Amino acid sequence: MQITNVTMPKNKYSIKCPYEMNPEYITIHNTANDANAMSEISYMIGNNNKTSFHVAVDNERIVTAIPFNRNAWHAGDGRGKGNMKSIGIEICYSKTGGERFEQAEKLCAEYVAYLLKQYGWGIERIKKHQDWSRKYCPHRTIDLGWPRFLNMVQAYLEEQTPIYNNVKNDGSEEKMKTYQNGSTTEVVYADTNCTNRIGSLNPRESCDCFGIFNNRAMVRYKVDGNNNYKIGFCKWIGGVK
Ligand SMILES: [Zn+2]
Repeated sequence: MQITNVTMPKNKYSIKCPYEMNPEYITIHNTANDANAMSEISYMIGNNNKTSFHVAVDNERIVTAIPFNRNAWHAGDGRGKGNMKSIGIEICYSKTGGERFEQAEKLCAEYVAYLLKQYGWGIERIKKHQDWSRKYCPHRTIDLGWPRFLNMVQAYLEEQTPIYNNVKNDGSEEKMKTYQNGSTTEVVYADTNCTNRIGSLNPRESCDCFGIFNNRAMVRYKVDGNNNYKIGFCKWIGGVK
């Protein structure tokens, strides 16, 4: 995944990204154009229209322009959450579509999963431009199936290095190994559907893992200083200690 960072000149901040932002969502767009990501970003930075977005993705690269702690004008909802609280991502080549568009969509899904992981978010944080205002955008992504795109992101989210390749879904060959949580807090659930929250793992906390069940790590973790443990499931399966 190749990410190219292009710097928005500070003297354009007042036009393109005037407000500080603490992002809460990711908004997906289609460019309705046939230009590549670098061209879309260059054009956006170069003109003096208010319209702006944080990232453009084509079939080969991801190009960022506006830092995620600044707003951008992409959602058509004025000072609403779309413009003021979301990271705007454009998927290129949507005008004609075809293979290069589908590859751009795929790369975008991978990149969105990467961002969700960084923020500790789930796919419910992904919005369509259409969710903020009436514009039919991302037009081709919607035409091809919005749930299909969310599923693509979810698949990337769940793509992880298995701790035991030989653990079966029914739990056979289970054995326990200690692993360490990553740099963000991990929510632990009572079930593999991740609906019933029972606790959390602190960043870098160690816990015992029995294996992977329905793409969830089954973990045993300390709930207090008295050697009391709980068993649960979490989404993130990181490095083995
Ligand atoms: Zn849009």
